[in-house]
Amino acid sequence: MSSYDVAIIGSGPGGYVAAIRCAQLGMKTAIIEKYGTLGGTCLNVGCIPSKSLLDSSHHYEDAVKHFSEHGIDIPGEIKVNLEQMIARKQGVVDQTCAGVKFLMDKNKIEVFEGLGSFKDATHINIKKNDGKIETIAAKNIIIATGSKPSTLPFIKIDKERIITSTEALELKEIPKHMIIIGGGVIGLELGQVYKRLGAEVTVVEYMDRIIPGMDSALSKELMKVMKKQKVKFALSHKVKSVERKGNEIIVKADDKKGQEIVFKGDYCLVSVGRRPYTDSLNAEAAGVKLDHRGRVAVNDHMQTSASNIYAIGDVVRGAMLAHKAEEEGTMVAEILAGQKPHIDYNLIPGVVYTWPEVAAVGKTEEELKEAGIEYKVGQFPMRALGRSRASMDLDGFVKILADKKTDEVLGVHMIGARCADLIAEAVTAMEFRASAEDISRMSHSHPTYAEAVKEAALAATGDRALHV
Ligand code: FAD
Repeated sequence: MSSYDVAIIGSGPGGYVAAIRCAQLGMKTAIIEKYGTLGGTCLNVGCIPSKSLLDSSHHYEDAVKHFSEHGIDIPGEIKVNLEQMIARKQGVVDQTCAGVKFLMDKNKIEVFEGLGSFKDATHINIKKNDGKIETIAAKNIIIATGSKPSTLPFIKIDKERIITSTEALELKEIPKHMIIIGGGVIGLELGQVYKRLGAEVTVVEYMDRIIPGMDSALSKELMKVMKKQKVKFALSHKVKSVERKGNEIIVKADDKKGQEIVFKGDYCLVSVGRRPYTDSLNAEAAGVKLDHRGRVAVNDHMQTSASNIYAIGDVVRGAMLAHKAEEEGTMVAEILAGQKPHIDYNLIPGVVYTWPEVAAVGKTEEELKEAGIEYKVGQFPMRALGRSRASMDLDGFVKILADKKTDEVLGVHMIGARCADLIAEAVTAMEFRASAEDISRMSHSHPTYAEAVKEAALAATGDRALHV
């Protein structure tokens, strides 16, 4: 029987990063993945394919709506070739997954293809595709089995017209009317893809705002912009049934007055969140306990109820984000090597890759109010930037929240062009506990979208923004 210092179950961004870091630190490492490709949800059916389709559909929209304004005339009709768009996306996915396999080989990590389940706390049974079972031994084990789309109890996902994000990345036709249940990140990103390609899109959300976990100013601005893009929203609507009649999908919901509202479309994307995935893991055999929400219960060091078994990523508490899973993977590897790493969860940024992009780090205004912390606000509109006018990306703003007394930056919330990248500056500043004054005194290249961060910092410190 092969034996390892560490074995990792699941090859998503949590698992494969943990494997690389363990190998870098000199551990004999194995990784087990039930699918034929490495990379997990993120690379196969999550971050990478969704961003590929967002980029392709953005190019199409630009070509149709904005090229002529830029002085680019295209003779003839501009058409979507959905088959090619999906094929390009798959090419990007394949290349990225192959990159992970390359990294496993480079770091001499043994890859097992098959379904991993605990035999006991130091042995894993791996069920191969041909039904054969191989058992390996490991001193330490990391559970990185991720998550799967969840649904509502009364909705039957048929994977054809009542679909999850996984199927939405592979559609064979552009929907006429896509009804999206859930106004969170995944629903809005995929909704924007199909809206740009010509579908009518209606988002039905239970809460009274979209992207509910983020600062409410971002929710308002994103909804305003997406409404301009002709996406329809039904907020405070409680979906109570989803029915398919032939190719028609009928969604019934109660609005906030309790009145029944009926939505009819040809596709329904159910994006109501994801559930931790521990099916077939046989966690009990290893003494690994789950919490009340079915997540693997862990302490601050990601250690489970079995002392040599750790868990990371979507399968444990916290934000379901690839970079959070990666940080936890690195942390566990370093703990196993005797180091003392630390993650500041307050500084894990959240991003929505719609256009304009939405990004945030630290506390929201709502959280500061609730905690009774006195703060100052500095906000700067993207439309005041030369860079935004040059690219015609005028929507959005950067908002900095700083402690009223100390001026320490407590939260940065932004919506606008390239905010997914701009947020890194805010994370860096907050990691070093910068004040708004510190940011306001740093030189930002001109013309860039990043100037909005400096201007918002100027606005937060004595209302000194220069360009409004
Ligand atoms: P996963 O990536 O889910 O990987 C778990 C792996 O474990 C899977 O490959 C699974 O097959 C394997 N596995 C499970 N059980 C077993 C078993 N018993 N034996 C062997 N293998 C097993 N996050 C971002 O940060 N940015 C984004 O832009 C973003 N976009 C997203 C878009 C969509 C449409 C979706 C669905 C998600 C997106 N996410 C994004 C979330 C991100 O994909 C997840 O947070 C991330 O993949 C979690 O990583 P993980 O390693 O915990 O698990």
